[in-house]
Amino acid sequence: MKISEILAKKKTLSFEIFPPKREDETFTLIDRTIKQLSIYKPDYISVTYGALGNTLSNTAMIARTIKDNTGAEPLAHLTCVASTTDKVDSVCTELKSYGVENILTLRGDIPKNTDTPIFSDFRHASDLASYIKGKFNGQFGLAGACYPEKHPEADNLTSDIEFMKIKQDAGMEFFDSQLFFDNEVFYHFLLKARKAGITVPIIPGIMPVTNHAQLDRMIQITGCNVPLKLRNYFDRYKNDKAAIEEIGLIFTSYQILDLIANDVDGIHIYSMNKSDFISKLMDNIGYVASGFFK
Ligand code: FAD
Repeated sequence: MKISEILAKKKTLSFEIFPPKREDETFTLIDRTIKQLSIYKPDYISVTYGALGNTLSNTAMIARTIKDNTGAEPLAHLTCVASTTDKVDSVCTELKSYGVENILTLRGDIPKNTDTPIFSDFRHASDLASYIKGKFNGQFGLAGACYPEKHPEADNLTSDIEFMKIKQDAGMEFFDSQLFFDNEVFYHFLLKARKAGITVPIIPGIMPVTNHAQLDRMIQITGCNVPLKLRNYFDRYKNDKAAIEEIGLIFTSYQILDLIANDVDGIHIYSMNKSDFISKLMDNIGYVASGFFK
């Protein structure tokens, strides 16, 4: 089923997972992580592509496992930077053969120090979406990425949202957002996006913070704003792992409850494959979540 059809009927709960580098970790992901996440009846589980140097077959194979073994729709990520139409055709054909119906169309980060032509067949995620839509006759449900605090390469939020409109026009039927820690930032972005003519669902992406180094890394990669309170708590308990985890759990629970109270289109959780932590989080917001995602 296309995820856009689910979104037309309900608020969605979704998780992102990534294919591990090592084969034994892939077994754990399939045997334990996906099973544990499935308990919370996610509408879809997205699987990253290319991140951490992983290969496509892992993404497709994991998407297939989700399709065959859980009630969730897999959303296979696919990047187009330094790729070709032939490669995209073969990935989409493989996904189709596994019954995977939804693709998150992305450009991907521009690789450094590579001899591969970077923009041979595709320049932007919107090029990938229009190509797949045309070539596969609308057989795939397509989604895209959006950035509440603008994409790092964008001049400003207004121009970034104008490009988001191009993505929507190219066939992206909903957006999963980059992570953010300040909900006010997301509400401001949502308002601007709606004013600019983005009519499809925009799902906030939430990354539970479980350690200090991870928070610093996320700020560095995404340039996201961190509320002073969270920064102060994390600095105060910098060397206390259990305290940081407890703060992360409470902060993320509250962040999600606030988004739910503001009636967002769904919640997308970057699980980082930490299903034990996600279980604690989902149990923490169990009552409110069960009413929202029903
Ligand atoms: P684009 O939409 O092409 O945007 C890139 C830049 O170009 C932006 O600055 C935008 O403003 C501008 N732009 C967009 N369209 C146009 C246009 N038509 N004309 C001119 N300028 C334009 N990376 C991975 O490698 N693997 C993953 O699995 C992965 N999953 C992700 C999931 C989510 C939810 C998010 C938010 C990001 C993910 N990324 C992933 C990271 C992503 O690939 C990078 O952020 C990348 O730099 C941009 O990808 P994009 O699809 O947003 O690109």
